[in-house]
Amino acid sequence: MQRTVLINGTFLTGDDFAPVTGALATSGGRIEAIGPDVGARPGDDVVDLGGGVAMPGLMDAHCHLIYRDVADPYDIELRKSVPQATVDAVATATLLLRKGFTTIRDVGSRANIGVEVRNAIARGDVPGPRVLAAGRIVSAPGGLGDFQPSHLFEDAPYKYSLAVQVVGPYEAAAVVRTQLKDGVDWIKVGVSGTGFNPLCPAERSGLTDVEFTALIEEAGRQGVPVVAHAESAGAVRIAARAGVASIEHAIFLPDDALEAIVENGVTISPTLSMYRAFAEQGLEMGIPQVIVDEHRRTHEHHVDSIRRAVAAGVPIVAGGDAGLTHFPQGSCAIEPATYVELVGMSAQAALRTITVDVARLLGIADEVGTLAPGKAADLLVLRRNPLDDVTALSDDDARAMVVQAGRVVARTAA
Ligand SMILES: [Zn+2]
Repeated sequence: MQRTVLINGTFLTGDDFAPVTGALATSGGRIEAIGPDVGARPGDDVVDLGGGVAMPGLMDAHCHLIYRDVADPYDIELRKSVPQATVDAVATATLLLRKGFTTIRDVGSRANIGVEVRNAIARGDVPGPRVLAAGRIVSAPGGLGDFQPSHLFEDAPYKYSLAVQVVGPYEAAAVVRTQLKDGVDWIKVGVSGTGFNPLCPAERSGLTDVEFTALIEEAGRQGVPVVAHAESAGAVRIAARAGVASIEHAIFLPDDALEAIVENGVTISPTLSMYRAFAEQGLEMGIPQVIVDEHRRTHEHHVDSIRRAVAAGVPIVAGGDAGLTHFPQGSCAIEPATYVELVGMSAQAALRTITVDVARLLGIADEVGTLAPGKAADLLVLRRNPLDDVTALSDDDARAMVVQAGRVVARTAA
C-alpha cells in the first residue's frame, strides 16, 4: 500500500497533545506510526513539513454549510433558492477543508442539503471535511425556525425552509422517523427562540412540552442523538433534563440546569465568538443599537455561564455558527482563543474543544480527534505551535498545510 511520510515536523499527539518530533507515516489514509525513528522507505511519498507543528484536523461542532454571506434569516431561506443554497454548501465545504477543518457537524440545512453534501464528499465527488449531518431544524409554528411572516405564509408554509414546523406529539415523533429515512446522523431541535429571529425571541419556547417530549422519546427509541438549540434559562433547563447529547449556545445556565447537564453527561457548544461578534462589532455590521445592546447584555451572562460549566467539568466543544456576512465560515477556528481569553481555559484544554472533544461528542473518537496510530490521517500543519499561541488556528499566515486521509489537500506558501 502506498505510504505517505510527513517528515521534519513536530506532532502534537494523543489526548494531551504531547509533542513528538520526527516523522509521521500514513498508509491507506491512516496514521501508521509517529516518532523520531519513523522514516521514509523507497517508493514512499515524502512531504517535508519544514519544521512545522502538526495537530489533528479541526472540527466544527456547530456548522451550517448553507450559511454563506447571510445577514439575517430571510437571506438564508427566502433570498436564496435551493439550488443556490446547495452550491453555497459545496463552496463552504471546500473552504472549510482549506482552512483546516477535516470534520464538521451540520446542525441544520434546507431540503436535506447537509446529508447530500455529506454523501458527495464521502464519495469523493467534491472536496470537503467529513460531515455528520442533521436535517431541517425541528421547530413549531412561531418557534425558533419559523422565519415566515404570517401575512405571507399563513396557509402554505414555505416548504424549503431551514426548519420544519411540527404541531403536536405525533408530528414531532414522525419528523424524527422521516429525517432518519432521509439519512440524518443527528436530530436538531429548537427548544428556545433566538435574538437572530425577530419573530421568535430567545425567551420564547420553540415547542410545547408535549411536542419536545415526543421528539426526545422517538429519537431515544431510534437511537439517534439530539442536538438542542437553547438560549434561555428555561430552554436550557428543559434540554438538560431531557439529556440531549449537546446543548447549543446555553446563554443562560441556572444552577439546577447545570446539575442536570453534569448528571446526564451533556456537552455544551457555546458558539461564544459568534455572539461576541454581535456584541462587539454589531454596530459596524449595521445591526440596530437596541439589538447590539441586547447582545452586550446577554454576552456577559453567556461568558459567566460557560465559565461555570467549565468549572463543573462539562465538556465544551467549539462551534462556529458561522457564515454570517461579518462572521464568515471558518471563524470557528477563533473559538478556542475565545475560551482562553474569556473563560480562562488552558491552551491545551482549548485545543481539545476543537478536536478530540468534538470527536467524542460525535461518537467517532476511535477514528479522528487525536494523532495516534490507527486513526485517520487528518492533520493541520501550522507554522506556530498552537499550545504557545492558540490564535495560530485562525491565522491564515500560520497555516502551512492541511492533510486529509494522508493526502495533502491544501498548502500555503510561507
Ligand atoms: Zn446554528
